[in-house]
Amino acid sequence: MEIIIGENAGFCYGVKRAVDNAIKEAKTGVTYCLGEIVHNQNVIDNLEKERIIFINDIEEAKGKTIIRAHGVPKEVYEKARKINIPLIDLTCPSVLKIQKIVEEYSKKEFFIIIVGNNNHPEIIGIKSRAGNKYIVIANKEELNGNFEKFQYEKNILLISQTTHSSKKFDEIAKELKSRLNDNTNLEIKKTICPSTEIRQKETEKIAKKVEIMIIIGDKKSSNTNKLYDISCKYCNKVLFIANENELDIKEIESVNIIGIMAGASTPKEDIIKVKNKIEEV
Ligand code: SF4
Repeated sequence: MEIIIGENAGFCYGVKRAVDNAIKEAKTGVTYCLGEIVHNQNVIDNLEKERIIFINDIEEAKGKTIIRAHGVPKEVYEKARKINIPLIDLTCPSVLKIQKIVEEYSKKEFFIIIVGNNNHPEIIGIKSRAGNKYIVIANKEELNGNFEKFQYEKNILLISQTTHSSKKFDEIAKELKSRLNDNTNLEIKKTICPSTEIRQKETEKIAKKVEIMIIIGDKKSSNTNKLYDISCKYCNKVLFIANENELDIKEIESVNIIGIMAGASTPKEDIIKVKNKIEEV
């Protein structure tokens, strides 16, 4: 049996930076973290063992508080200042860049089309900087369904969540260019993070070659869900598991070639444990 593991599987730069710094902070005293630092229960459990306290509202904090890689709404910074809570801002630099662009274009009165998942924490943070003229869409169909909201706008910015599907963003951009009239000033910023694009391309490549594709990660992780969708397009059998305990060995017993990919919030140890379990078979 051959096992192909994606070279880009596991923690991305932004998640690694957030988790490493959170552990460092925890060693210097009681540390709070606003929301899950990444969408991965194993990572959260390990950080709780390091005595990091997870909270859902900044008002629950009683000391220094970490802002996670996805970023938070603008109001959180103001609230923290008012209640004297020092913030350790571990928002990924790629997310910070989007927040800045959206704020700047909102001040210039642009209508902002954000491509992403409306309820994802990264998008909630970005929306808080977009003023009143914006929509969030996930695909071309949603763009067309909302077209009347912005078709007469003079200035439009199209921007993306860092972990959205590159193909879906390109389809939206193409549709927008073809439907808007020539007088509209359309600015397109494809802010999908390079690590996401590379991972998606590698997933496609592996999924085309293997009999079974295994995606490791938390079901809440946006980027891991995208890897699952991509795999389903190119491979007949795809398993989406959180860790080795969810891997049913019967599913892979008579398979010759297996592919493994993992989301940006999945630690390397989880990938190795799945690989070891397969090798035991
Ligand atoms: S996926 Fe990209 S944007 Fe998101 S945390 Fe990782 S490096 Fe940052």
